Amino acid sequence: MDRRISRERQARQNAEQLLIEKSAELYDSLQQAKSAEKKLRLALWACQESFWEWHAHNDEYYMRAFKLDWADEHQWRGSPISLLKFIHPDDIGNLEFNWMLAVHGGQQTLEVCFRFRRHARYVWVRLRGRVLHRDAQQSALHIVGTIRDITRERHAEHSFHLMASAFSSSKDPMLVLTRQLKISECNEAFLKMVGARQKQQCLGRSLHAYLVNKSALPDTLEDQQQFSQETDIIAGKHTSIPAELTLAVFEHQEHGGAYVIATLRDISERKANEARLQQMAMHDELTGLTNRAGLHDEVCELIEVNGQFSIMFIDLDGFKLINDTAGHDCGDNALKSVAAKLTLRFGTQGIVTRWGGDEFVVILPNAYHEMLLECGNELISDIEADKIVCGDIELTLSASIGIAEYPMHGDTVESLLQNADAAMYQAKLLGKGRVFLYEAGLLESMQQQVTMLSELRRAVNDRALEFYLQGKYNAHSNLCGAELLCRWRSALHGNVPPDVFIPLAEEHGLDTVIGWLALEAACEYLVMMEVEAGQVPLSINVSANQLLSENFADQALAICEEHKISPQWIEIEITERIFICDEAGAINALNRLQHNGFKIALDDFGAGFSALSYLRSFAFEVVKLDKSLIMNIHKDAKALSLVQGIIAMLQGLGLEIVAEGVEQIEYVALLHSAKVQQMQGYFFDKPAPYDQFLARHARRNEPT
Ligand code: C2E
Ligand code: CA
Ligand code: CA
Repeated sequence: MDRRISRERQARQNAEQLLIEKSAELYDSLQQAKSAEKKLRLALWACQESFWEWHAHNDEYYMRAFKLDWADEHQWRGSPISLLKFIHPDDIGNLEFNWMLAVHGGQQTLEVCFRFRRHARYVWVRLRGRVLHRDAQQSALHIVGTIRDITRERHAEHSFHLMASAFSSSKDPMLVLTRQLKISECNEAFLKMVGARQKQQCLGRSLHAYLVNKSALPDTLEDQQQFSQETDIIAGKHTSIPAELTLAVFEHQEHGGAYVIATLRDISERKANEARLQQMAMHDELTGLTNRAGLHDEVCELIEVNGQFSIMFIDLDGFKLINDTAGHDCGDNALKSVAAKLTLRFGTQGIVTRWGGDEFVVILPNAYHEMLLECGNELISDIEADKIVCGDIELTLSASIGIAEYPMHGDTVESLLQNADAAMYQAKLLGKGRVFLYEAGLLESMQQQVTMLSELRRAVNDRALEFYLQGKYNAHSNLCGAELLCRWRSALHGNVPPDVFIPLAEEHGLDTVIGWLALEAACEYLVMMEVEAGQVPLSINVSANQLLSENFADQALAICEEHKISPQWIEIEITERIFICDEAGAINALNRLQHNGFKIALDDFGAGFSALSYLRSFAFEVVKLDKSLIMNIHKDAKALSLVQGIIAMLQGLGLEIVAEGVEQIEYVALLHSAKVQQMQGYFFDKPAPYDQFLARHARRNEPT
């Protein structure tokens, strides 16, 4: 009995022990389950996933949400149908299809994204699930899963897609680079720019490999650094494209690293436009030569390096005539042809530029003046050799050239050009078609000429010029005529000789007025002489320019008529120069003058290159032998024979002869024996004002 009792006790103790152990185990697993659920809740809370499950037996959907901003969990229960009203109508079809696949289609997992309405707006959610149990017909009985708000990811993804399509479809080449500027991504436009067929050819290469100037880029970019500059991109074996390169560093939030976005903009069109503008700004449109602005830059550069160089200032002679008679197209062609000649001659050694109008400037480094003078003269011959044909007229150009050397004749652009210009002007004054090297003081004297010109202009306008008279005498030394010679007494320059102011007046168009003043003075003197001493014919000097002007003969006649003077008392003295300007025009004008009753004299015969042909072209009444022919005939037998020969020839043509420059009595005897009818010179009288001239002759005529 005791043994039974002790066995039973033992069994009870064992059972209790077992119960205690099982209870403890149960307690432990309960504790573990609690802790697992806690951990699960924590995990779901941390990854912001909500838990859901569905049971087929009651078709109930149950959800537990653990949101970051909710203190407690959120629960929801209901049928899947009741959920549908929260789902965006466009997404319902897809959700139902996937749900059906999981429930009836044997698909074990479920993943679907859709828009879910919450607080009157839709959020994107991603639902995932797994079928836990199925019935004998394989329909799902129990599905569990998670659901998550993915609105932010969707937006990020969306904007990423937008960015990616912008990147790939951008017309501008774009690259994604590592911080060390290695290419990790590039778009089509970049492949096209560098002439690569596949992306693989570029990926992994350094951006430096595509730049002409590799040192233009840093090796790596610092944080936040932005970089932008113009550079040339290698676009093939022998080509490059100018581009604007912009680099910007971006921090990569998720990976903690950084990447660089590079954009390239093809600026070849802009560069070409800039180059074209630069070309236009620095070059002359007509000739394509460097223009004044370009010349300035070139000379500045030479001065900076302090090299020896010369400036040749070239001005065309006779260009205005071509432009006026042959027209502007012909003038333009003439300028182009001169430009081509200059380029051919100096293009390889120097810089040929167009200063403007018919003026050119050549810069010649390392040239010495002997060489420059030679080159200048050759150039002039070259230009003169060209005949410019305009209808049946043939015209020629020439050039006057002035030279200034650096640093001797100026150490600034302005002074050099000014002095070269002054030298050119001097070449013109010396008779055109020649080269003149700048001399110290030239500019000053030119400037003096400028003030002289403005004073002369004033004197002409104020009629402050005087006309002196110098007599012409016959074989008996009786007065038989007189020449009017212009005199200018300037307050600033004193008595300026006509040899100085007449060329200045001709150059600046004042000679015509001087001619009219001379004719008026002659008429007035004749009127006074008639009253006071008896008349002799008076001669006036007329410039080529005035004689060739329209209606000169009729206007001259009108002035005589105004003063009631017959034109037979007026002799017009002209020189051969008029024939050189325009032979046909000259003959026409002289014929009209003669027709109007004026007497015509050929002045300065024998000075320079007298061409006898003019004596055939026009029937002069008088020829005046130049003083250079008469000089020293009493000492020089050759000179005497020459004069005698010329006189005999002129007499043979039936011309009246006046010998000028008769200074000595010896000349008078020799000229008498050669049967020269009239003489003029200091031996008889010096040019004098009308009053003195009149007084002298009035006295002479007085009975002794
Ligand atoms: P031209 O027409 O040959 O005038 C004669 C020049 O010889 C005058 O010089 C006169 O003073 C000078 N002469 C006269 N006798 C002698 C002499 O015995 N020996 C020397 N060595 N010279 C003598 P001028 O008055 O100085 O005039 C110079 C030139 O200026 C003139 O040369 C003429 O070409 C021009 N000229 C003068 N007046 C006028 C004018 O009213 N109109 C124009 N267009 N030209 C003028
Ligand atoms: Ca004269
Ligand atoms: Ca003369």
